[in-house]
Amino acid sequence: MKNKYFLFITGCLFLFSCTKTHQQENRITVTIEPQRYFASQLADTLFTVETMVPPGTSPETYDPSPVQMTAVARSKAYFCIGYIGFEEAWADKLKANHPQVKFFDNSKGVSLIETGAHAHEGCHHGKTDPHIWSSPREALTIVKNMYEALLEIDPGHAAVYTENYRLLAARIKDTDEKITDMLKSSSQKAFIIYHPALSYFARDYGLVQYCIENDGKEPSPGHLKELVETVKNLQIKTIFVQQEFDRKNAESIARETGCRLLVINPLSCNWNEEMIRIAQALADE
Ligand SMILES: [Zn+2]
Repeated sequence: MKNKYFLFITGCLFLFSCTKTHQQENRITVTIEPQRYFASQLADTLFTVETMVPPGTSPETYDPSPVQMTAVARSKAYFCIGYIGFEEAWADKLKANHPQVKFFDNSKGVSLIETGAHAHEGCHHGKTDPHIWSSPREALTIVKNMYEALLEIDPGHAAVYTENYRLLAARIKDTDEKITDMLKSSSQKAFIIYHPALSYFARDYGLVQYCIENDGKEPSPGHLKELVETVKNLQIKTIFVQQEFDRKNAESIARETGCRLLVINPLSCNWNEEMIRIAQALADE
């Protein structure tokens, strides 16, 4: 009798351990939260999606913990956003440490903004501006790359991914149309932002982005003075600040010019809502 019970328990444990390992494998790692939004919409409950750069930290400077570095091993795939400081520092190490994990570049085919392409000084990162997710039009390419990656790592659920891709692409197109309509009649054709996270957004909707951060560094008094003149000359109404960055310079420009200050989160996992919220701020007269 006792033997039968022991065999039963052992059997259960074995079954449990098999199931647990399998569930852990259904995991995709991404670098930033907006990617988690897109990947979760596509993968539904078939994969858990983990983000390396936690909310409130900067993907330019964040360093992963050893636990995070090893946890990547349990992923079937890693989705890179491309050109961002975190990946430039860590992607090669992650690839070397985890040869069994498939790495995919979500920026493939995106129309990139290169240094020197910007209209204004001080708004660039190295050679390529990494903030591709701030453009609904480029988000369509990011999502297509993710969809194709899912078909590659899990062809058995192709029908699910194809339907989710169709729905998500339609939602992103709808967001793009909404924003285009909102900004068409707005007199606001330029804005100030601390960190140049909206370069692609500005390009897509014919706006000009002026940055407080100067080449990745704190602004000089001369740069701040120039910005105040620009605000007055162009009657700029909105200054955007992000939670990861210092606010004091933005506040001083707002005080001096009467501009309104708005906290935005381009790294939000509520990508859709955040894009609309940013557009709303620029649509307001
Ligand atoms: Zn950035």
